[in-house]
Amino acid sequence: MLGASAEIDDRVAWAKQRVAQLDQERENLVQQTRQERKQGKLSKGLVEKIKACTPTQLKRVIAFARENLKDYKKPPTLWDVKIYGRLLAQASYKNKFYSMEERKCGKPNCSKCPHGPYYIAHQRDGLYYRPKSLHFSDLPRPIRAAFGPPRNAYLQKRSAERVRS
Ligand SMILES: [Zn+2]
Repeated sequence: MLGASAEIDDRVAWAKQRVAQLDQERENLVQQTRQERKQGKLSKGLVEKIKACTPTQLKRVIAFARENLKDYKKPPTLWDVKIYGRLLAQASYKNKFYSMEERKCGKPNCSKCPHGPYYIAHQRDGLYYRPKSLHFSDLPRPIRAAFGPPRNAYLQKRSAERVRS
């Protein structure tokens, strides 16, 4: 009886180890794919699919790729991007969409809420639009010009509220 339970324990330990090993392998694969994407490499699966194409399909792949490249030259719209806070202003410049936001931190009794303003540049990156936080001084000049007046109004209103509370 004792022997049987020890055997079960062994099997459980082995299975747990195997699961951990598979998790690690999957994680490594995800990291590798991410790295190769950054380097601009085509994935093995994509290369195989392209090789399997007929000449007509290859021409369509080229046209489709061109369309996608063109799309990278356009800025995303408000409907493409994710706004996590309250949108205070928005503007586009070249291939980026810029948002000015204020955000609540979620901490109870926070006296500084909402925080901001934050300036986010959104740009297409494959299937999604990557947000990048910037300082006001790092924004391109036309965006600073567009965001300047709403920013000043916002900061004035904020400092007035601080004095009152
Ligand atoms: Zn807060």
